[in-house]
Amino acid sequence: MTLTVVGSLNVDVVVRVPALPRPGETLLGTSVARLAGGKGANQAAALAALGVQVALVGAVGDDADGALCLASLDGVDVSGVRRVAAPTGLALIEVDDAGENTIVVVPGANALAEAPAVVGDLLVQLEVPLDVVTLSVERATGLVVLNAAPAVALPVSLLARVDVLVVNEGEAALLPAEPPVRRGVVTTLGARGAVVAAADGSHTEVRAPVVRAVDTVGAGDAFVGALVAALLDGHDLVEATRHGCAAGALAVTRPGARSAPTRDELASALG
Ligand code: ADP
Repeated sequence: MTLTVVGSLNVDVVVRVPALPRPGETLLGTSVARLAGGKGANQAAALAALGVQVALVGAVGDDADGALCLASLDGVDVSGVRRVAAPTGLALIEVDDAGENTIVVVPGANALAEAPAVVGDLLVQLEVPLDVVTLSVERATGLVVLNAAPAVALPVSLLARVDVLVVNEGEAALLPAEPPVRRGVVTTLGARGAVVAAADGSHTEVRAPVVRAVDTVGAGDAFVGALVAALLDGHDLVEATRHGCAAGALAVTRPGARSAPTRDELASALG
């Protein structure tokens, strides 16, 4: 069965800087690159690299950036990506010498994304409008994974229809004390790995492999892609989180947002 990803497609303008600027500060960047990104597109690409049959539903502008986004999605069914009368989404990303980053996203065409009419297994993030997220989740008949990024307070009625919720520490701070999700909440902790809070009340920490980070952009997307691929393969939530941590660690050793591993690379990292 095809996994549907409902989410964003952006062009990332990535500037390397010696250190992230403080408010009011101007500094010189060392390089700039325009790369295809967006959480929806990155996670769909991560899943395709792992051999999952995946279709992306979203929207891009009828412009060169939109063409760049679509051309970057080898192995992903993009027939559900509409070309609309708004500029393609744009992310301004600064990455410092320690691999730390700041990101500003301008949604553009992503604000005009629409929910698919029919959905089986679903992966969705929050870079498309919340009503599109809600409708997609309501229509899904299979596994529902919500990566609640960027951070937004979410209605309990939406959380109750989600099997697995994936958040980072900042996003976790906006969740209710006990989010009513069906299987569990996975919170990513950067270099420390992730923690699984299962619906049965158990908490399990999963350590991230120790690596030398060069660029943490894309770590979360690689994590989510590998976690969802493992869930679709029938692994339990803790084992799927182990796959996510291995993929996230591989991603931070490589530049750019499309840094997720292939199935073979992930298999050898998992040992
Ligand atoms: P986000 O980028 O969405 O904020 P995190 O920073 O928590 O997410 O990273 C997602 C996952 O990527 C982590 O759970 C971890 O598995 C992996 N990861 C991130 N940074 C590192 C790092 N420095 N070393 C090893 N793994 C990392």
